[in-house]
Amino acid sequence: MLIKDREPSQELMMLRGLKPRLHFNNEEKNYLDYKEKGFQGELAFDKLTEPLREKMVFLNDVTLKQNNNEYQIDSMAIASNKLHTFEVKNYEGDYIVKDNKWFSPNNNIVKNPLLQVQRTDALLTQLLREKGFRHTVESHLIFINPEFHLYDIPSGLPIVYPAQLNRFIEMLNTEPVKITPSDMKLAQSLLSLHINESTYSNLPNYDYHTLQKGIACPGCLKFYSPPIYTSFYCESCQLQESTEQAVLRSMEEFQLLFPSEKLTTNRLFDWCGVFKDKRTIRKVLQGNCQQQGHGVSSYFFR
Ligand SMILES: [Zn+2]
Repeated sequence: MLIKDREPSQELMMLRGLKPRLHFNNEEKNYLDYKEKGFQGELAFDKLTEPLREKMVFLNDVTLKQNNNEYQIDSMAIASNKLHTFEVKNYEGDYIVKDNKWFSPNNNIVKNPLLQVQRTDALLTQLLREKGFRHTVESHLIFINPEFHLYDIPSGLPIVYPAQLNRFIEMLNTEPVKITPSDMKLAQSLLSLHINESTYSNLPNYDYHTLQKGIACPGCLKFYSPPIYTSFYCESCQLQESTEQAVLRSMEEFQLLFPSEKLTTNRLFDWCGVFKDKRTIRKVLQGNCQQQGHGVSSYFFR
C-alpha cells in the first residue's frame, strides 16, 4: 500500500523556476544538479520497491520535526510491527572513507551519510516510543547508482550497494510479513506529522525585477519561443505543451517564488513574458482561478 507518494521538493521546484531566470554560479549549478540527481535516484528506488507495496505500507519523502530537529526520510515501509527507513543516495563514481570522513571522486569531503541515517533512526525510535508504538526501526542506506563504488569501508554497516539491491528487495519480498492494524495506525500517525520542509539554505538570492521573464520548458528549463496557436513547442528538446498548461505552471512557479505577492493579470502577463497581449493570461486565470475584486485592483487565487 502506498499512502504518501513522492513529488519534487519545494526547494527543487524553486531552483528549477529560478534556473532560466537568473545566472547561477558553479556552486548553485552543482547544487541544482545534486538535487535533480537525488530526486531521480529516489524515483528509481520507488520503482524498485513497487512489488513490496502489496505487503508493506509505504510513505515516501516524509519530513518530521521533533524538539527543533527537522529531518527528512526518503522512504519508509511498515509491516508486522517493523518500520524500515531508506535513505537513498544517487552518488556516482569512486568514494573513499578515511578516518570516518567521506571523500567524493574529486576529493571533496561529503557529509557522512551514515551519521544522517543514525540520527534519523534515533529520532524516529524516540518518536515511536513517545506515541506509544512498539515497532522496531531498521534503517538502510541505499546506493542506487550502478556506477557507485565505496572503498575502505568496514563491513556490517546498514549499507546496500547497487549490486546487492535486487537481492535486498527480493529478501524483503520473501519475508513473511503483513500489514497489521497497528502498522496502519503508525503510518497514519506519521503522515499526520509530516510537515513541508522549511529551510532552503542553498537557494540563490533573487528579486522579481532582476529575474528574466518568460516561460521555461519543463523538460530542459530553456525559455520557449512565442506559442503557435495554442501550443508551445520547445526547440531544444521537442517537448510540446498547451499554452493553458504552460501558463498554469508559470503561475504556480510565481506563487512558489513569491508567496506574498498578489496574482494579477498584469503580473502574470509580465512573468510569462512571451505573449503579445493579455488575452491568453486572462482566459487561463478566469477559467482556473477565483477572482477577488474588479478592475485594475482585482487579483486571483486558486
Ligand atoms: Zn525543452
